[in-house]
Amino acid sequence: MSAPRLVAAPQKDNVLELFEGRSAPLVSRRAFLGRAAMATGALALPSFIIACGGSEPAAMIDSGVAVGKADPMAPERLFGWVKELCAFQPRWAGYPEERRAGEWLAQRLSNAGLQTQIEPYGFRKWELIDWETFLTDGSGMRAVNSFPMWSTHAGQGTAELVDVGFGTEVELLAQDLQGKAVVVTGKALLNVFATYPDTYQRAAELGAAAMFVTSDAPDNLIRPTSSSQNYLDDNPIPAFQMGARDIAEMRAAARNGGTATWRLNAQHVDGTTRDVVGFLPGSGELDGTLLICAHYDAWFTGALDNATGVAGLIGLAEHFGSLPIEQRPRDMIFVGVTGHDTGFPYGGIANWLSKNQDLVPNLDLFVNLDHLAAYGEEHISGAGIIDMLGLMIERPGDEERALFTTKHPALQRTFLPYLLQYGLLAVPLPTVPEVNANRDLEGSMGALDVPSVNLTMATPHYHTVEDTPDRIPPEQLSRAVRAHRDFLTDIIGMSRQQIRSPL
Ligand SMILES: [Zn+2]
Repeated sequence: MSAPRLVAAPQKDNVLELFEGRSAPLVSRRAFLGRAAMATGALALPSFIIACGGSEPAAMIDSGVAVGKADPMAPERLFGWVKELCAFQPRWAGYPEERRAGEWLAQRLSNAGLQTQIEPYGFRKWELIDWETFLTDGSGMRAVNSFPMWSTHAGQGTAELVDVGFGTEVELLAQDLQGKAVVVTGKALLNVFATYPDTYQRAAELGAAAMFVTSDAPDNLIRPTSSSQNYLDDNPIPAFQMGARDIAEMRAAARNGGTATWRLNAQHVDGTTRDVVGFLPGSGELDGTLLICAHYDAWFTGALDNATGVAGLIGLAEHFGSLPIEQRPRDMIFVGVTGHDTGFPYGGIANWLSKNQDLVPNLDLFVNLDHLAAYGEEHISGAGIIDMLGLMIERPGDEERALFTTKHPALQRTFLPYLLQYGLLAVPLPTVPEVNANRDLEGSMGALDVPSVNLTMATPHYHTVEDTPDRIPPEQLSRAVRAHRDFLTDIIGMSRQQIRSPL
């Protein structure tokens, strides 16, 4: 076993190949940030503070640019945030571009007039170094593209393939998995809910040596996911996501005594990630606080997921930050979080919650901004919402969304008219926390009885290398953000009783 080594970023070719040609350096902006930091040191009037809460040194920079008269809801302005954030990649929790993305977001919130700080915290980072996967069947041995399931155990080996279908309990128990490499055909219901969340841990319990899974993306694209429960260093076996065509070949090979060979070089190390927290005080006319959140980590470019949500966060911060304080009767907190894609129970709002338990009883609303806009392509998927619900092809709105809320009828009642007004077709689901798209975000908040909202949608390209800005319609993004703006404008003036009313 080689000695552990720390690397600043994935160094090996197969990591970097994923990003070739997609990473545009933003030298001028970074130079500006550096100048702003120096200016603040001279003025000693920081409106933007990097807190010293983790292993990172404290630093301060000034807000720099004022928002001015720009319309925060303008399609091109919002889309500009998408493009800028997407230039930071990979935005994996604890990796260098995630830190830079956090600094970029903090600057945007600070420019919007919010009291903003970056709050670093230590966590168990998964450091991915390199990997390779091969299939051996009647025609010989060949390399197969893959991407490791996040946070899985390093290792290498060769094993007989066994096809376990969808990887359900019955399918796993039906065959001897001891020492085998299991092949799982994953689906994503509504493009979001993976059908195999527990398969990884269960297959390992039953003796599997490795797992290969596909997850319902088109064109043999690889769609990474994490498993339902992340045990970090104690995750048992290597696992890899694959494209649908490659998994079909693995399944065919499994029928004919084929084998898989794999090598995953990765390790858990102590790392640092960060929340970006912007505070916008209200007039105090009403008690309570509204918490608006977006995760800014991503798989690969992450345009829909979740540069659109972050663009919404900035747009809403700019809008509410520009209002006279009399129009903000209660406080608002805007927070950008990471680690959403590293696996429950870590990441998302977990760190903020652990440090702000005293604020929870005072929260009157939690909004998770995630997946706000994308060109329609649901029908490519065999499991899109249209197919799931049998809706007709001709639609009154341009996209199919789900509006997840806690069981506070005022949330839907307040939000739905704006969805109609802005042409955003949504299926209302008063289900949080029992059913939600994100256990680490609205799921966690709903479990604490905080009224919570998540208006979301997904396309077959999300989580793949093709979740890119060219798939985001600026005008649709603007409508989605304006619907949130109007919803929040109503909610901010409602009493706690009105928001929580069962009627
Ligand atoms: Zn997301």
